Amino acid sequence: MAYLPGTRRPKVRREGTEGHLVNERSDARSRRLTASPGELLQFIADGSATTRTALADLTGLARSTVSQRLEPLLQAGFVHETDAGVSTGGRPPVVLAFNRTAGVVLAADVGVTHVRVGVADLAGELLAERFESLEIAAGPEVVLPAVQRHFDALLEEIGHGPERVRGVGVGLPGPVEFARGVAVSPPIMPGWHEYPVTDGFRERYDAPVLVDNDVNVMALGEYERQWAHRVDDLLFVKVGSGIGAGVIMGGRIHRGAQGAAGDIGHIRLAGADDAVCACSNVGCIEAVAGGAALAAQLQEQGHTARTASDVVDLVKAGNREAMGLVRGAGRDLGIVLAGIVNLLNPAVIVLGGRLAAVDEPLLAGVRESLYSRSLPLATRSLQIVRSQLGEEAGVTGAVELVLDHILTPEAVDAQLRTRADAPAVSAS
Ligand SMILES: [Zn+2]
Repeated sequence: MAYLPGTRRPKVRREGTEGHLVNERSDARSRRLTASPGELLQFIADGSATTRTALADLTGLARSTVSQRLEPLLQAGFVHETDAGVSTGGRPPVVLAFNRTAGVVLAADVGVTHVRVGVADLAGELLAERFESLEIAAGPEVVLPAVQRHFDALLEEIGHGPERVRGVGVGLPGPVEFARGVAVSPPIMPGWHEYPVTDGFRERYDAPVLVDNDVNVMALGEYERQWAHRVDDLLFVKVGSGIGAGVIMGGRIHRGAQGAAGDIGHIRLAGADDAVCACSNVGCIEAVAGGAALAAQLQEQGHTARTASDVVDLVKAGNREAMGLVRGAGRDLGIVLAGIVNLLNPAVIVLGGRLAAVDEPLLAGVRESLYSRSLPLATRSLQIVRSQLGEEAGVTGAVELVLDHILTPEAVDAQLRTRADAPAVSAS
């Protein structure tokens, strides 16, 4: 499933012109070039070379060979031509551009109590979204058809058929074995263990379907949209009902041997043995500082609080007990994160999830204990910030997950080979 090291999807240049992508940190040139159509697309998309002549110069291929290799990209709709080039005398050169409308990507953020779905173009821009409150505990036979119905409605909304779908990304709120796309012994998801999540989508769209843990997906979304041009190593910490983390190392999701990397919620906090966790151990950070744990503590103190959102509401209303509790939770979380910072040395920690909406009390608590317990070198330029994408992180990350997978040179070449055996489809 994973693509080769050294290949990166071109990054959208935020201030750039429409359809023009650029990857400031493209390392394609340092790799051994085969100048396949997929690699030519990479150069066009990241702005390294946007005319036939420039591609010939960059790759050392004859101009006629470049034209020959561009042909399948043009036919498949990945590249379109404009005549907006600046002439240096004589005929203006034809400029090649990545065609972001050459297909769409479907994305689903399946949470514990909600489903959020979206459809995006190949530059990752969301074209339409839908939301439904739905319990994951209803099981895959209820939740997945609901996601499917939303996908169909989204495609209809933007006027595209299922044949336009180039990939599907799904985030699930539990441990996922990424290579197989299945949840493995998820604690709060009855019926999902080993359930073939990808089958139905694959049948319908004839496109790759990627399933990952929701926090990994959020980490990727936050990284690609906010940090990819600036840092390589990021830790995304989701503080919702429970606590989990997504690890980005060297610009990629670090999943570990089985896909369980980042599951920090069950790291034991010393001196918290009275906190019993849903996993049946005691002292887990999630059972101490997670939104559900905080709500329970507030309820004991006579407040009306059932969920992480209720805790956020109390803090925002200026409730002093709630604020103190959240700050304390931040300090406890900071102790656990200090160990992780010493191990991984991330450049930035992003706090997301429902409870991150309280903002300062939580961040201040985390900073307080983390900075005093991590090595000075590891924290010298460490940034601890709140998620910018908020509720959108899951869907955005699922889109990025798919784009990273389908737009690598290898993946593009494979798609072109498949198309060569099939009748041509007009793209956009
Ligand atoms: Zn636990």
